[in-house]
Amino acid sequence: MNRLRGQAALMVLAMALLVTACAGGKGGSFNMQNIDIGQLAQNLRGLRAVSESEEIEIGNGVSETLLGARPLEKDDELQHYVNVVGLWVARQSERPDLPWHFGVSDSDAINAFAAPGGNVIITRGMMRLLRNESELAGVIGHEVVHVVNKHHLSAIQKNAFIGLLGQGVSAASGRNQQLVNALIGPTKELYARGLDKSDEFEADRMGVVIAARAGYDPWGLPASLQTLAGMKPDGSQLALLFKTHPAPGARLEKLSLAMGTSFDQLAGGGQSSDRFTRATQRLKVADAR
Ligand SMILES: [Zn+2]
Repeated sequence: MNRLRGQAALMVLAMALLVTACAGGKGGSFNMQNIDIGQLAQNLRGLRAVSESEEIEIGNGVSETLLGARPLEKDDELQHYVNVVGLWVARQSERPDLPWHFGVSDSDAINAFAAPGGNVIITRGMMRLLRNESELAGVIGHEVVHVVNKHHLSAIQKNAFIGLLGQGVSAASGRNQQLVNALIGPTKELYARGLDKSDEFEADRMGVVIAARAGYDPWGLPASLQTLAGMKPDGSQLALLFKTHPAPGARLEKLSLAMGTSFDQLAGGGQSSDRFTRATQRLKVADAR
């Protein structure tokens, strides 16, 4: 899947280069003399094959940007709790050994974010909306799939291709730090616009599987989507989530088709409602004030 994406991105780039070359040949405004094709090829290889340590570095930069907008909620018990649940769920994924970190941000918006390399942020608003640990595991499972399948990383790379071309190739250095910086640059825009719908449906489908592997009721994610589907989409709390994800109804429809009856035996599995209630108590109390 990712290799296909990489190839598609390279195709886009090859086409762009072709256009550039044609423009240059016809005496267009683009000055071909400034382009070092060898350097470009070098940069492209770097962009296409981001190593795991670069992925983690990019993810840390992305998380810094996201947490700069909304820092973590000051509640050690809650932060510890989401890390216990998150780590357990992430360990059932195809990339159990990434440096996974989970956090609740102090935002009332209902949302969750994943950064490349294993950082997952859930908003306080989302924690208030969820009713038990299997719903939390479902939401975490969805975000873990975004990381495991490099959804954001691929989108960031795709953007960077275009961005670097736009800036002229000399702006792109083969050196890691500059490459990483170039990739982190358009973070805000990406997280405001969202991923492809197909990535979101994939994260739902596989997130359910990961949550089930972790021993949770696989219907936790669909249950949280049911809650969302029943809410007015025009509220400011939901604006970003609804803008960046397919409508909850469409997600539920796809999920129920994908899940069929395969998960019926697991329904009613672990929900750990008590532990969830204890850990989120302060949020709910604050909510009632
Ligand atoms: Zn998502």
